[in-house]
Amino acid sequence: MPTTPLTAEVISIGDEMTSGARLDTNAQWLSRRLADLGIEVAFHSTVGDAMQRNIDVFRIAAARADLVVCTGGLGPTRDDLTRQALSAVAHQPLELRQPSLDHISDLFHRRGREMPERNKIQAMFPVGSLEIFNPQGTAPGVDVQIARDNNSASRIFALPGVPAEMKRMFDETVSPRIVSMMGGDDHHIEQYVMKFFGVGESEMEQRLGDMISRDRQPRVGITVSAATISLRITAIGSSPVECHTQIENT
Ligand code: ATP
Repeated sequence: MPTTPLTAEVISIGDEMTSGARLDTNAQWLSRRLADLGIEVAFHSTVGDAMQRNIDVFRIAAARADLVVCTGGLGPTRDDLTRQALSAVAHQPLELRQPSLDHISDLFHRRGREMPERNKIQAMFPVGSLEIFNPQGTAPGVDVQIARDNNSASRIFALPGVPAEMKRMFDETVSPRIVSMMGGDDHHIEQYVMKFFGVGESEMEQRLGDMISRDRQPRVGITVSAATISLRITAIGSSPVECHTQIENT
């Protein structure tokens, strides 16, 4: 499969992170996922809830990375500024998207509540941007291209800060879009996770040898949590069958 190496930047937005009140686990999770896709994460940035600083961080990221994944600041309150900052950096005004607004007000109705007026902002997107569906929460994500001087563009994917929402949106929508960026539209991605108990991490790494090298296809990522070692096999191919074959062989 023809792949162009892409570089990425992960941005975490929120005073909670810059003040140290909360540990930035989103950046860690996203970096591992991007590495599974064969993408080099070249930078991590963290920025508080201030408009001009958000704009600056997006400008810098768009200039130096082909794709940017940011989390946070998509909520309905006044300190949630990601949409407005993206609109400024993309030089595109925000427009109201009725289907998104309907989805958000539906969520409120199902919980027996009226949608507060301020949630309307969550249905606004920079002109020309794509939406990233959020099946779990009110905040949809934003997928927007930022033009660069050299006729190229950087693509920013903005996701909510809530880890469960952003993880699902990354796996279901962002990841397939990144795979398309790497090699055209007819590519598929399949993942398979195996969990192991009762073996140490270093022993496991030794036994796996070259299987976990970064340039292998399909990629095998290793993560450790408590007493469990997880191996995530990520296959990228021209059809689901090809992906399954790669995974089975591995
Ligand atoms: P919401 O609609 O919930 O306001 P949001 O996109 O505005 O979504 P934030 O308000 O920035 O997201 O964050 C919501 C919560 O998600 C935070 O209170 C925090 O618990 C968690 N969170 C945000 N960013 C991170 C991060 N980088 N790592 C871990 N947790 C995070």
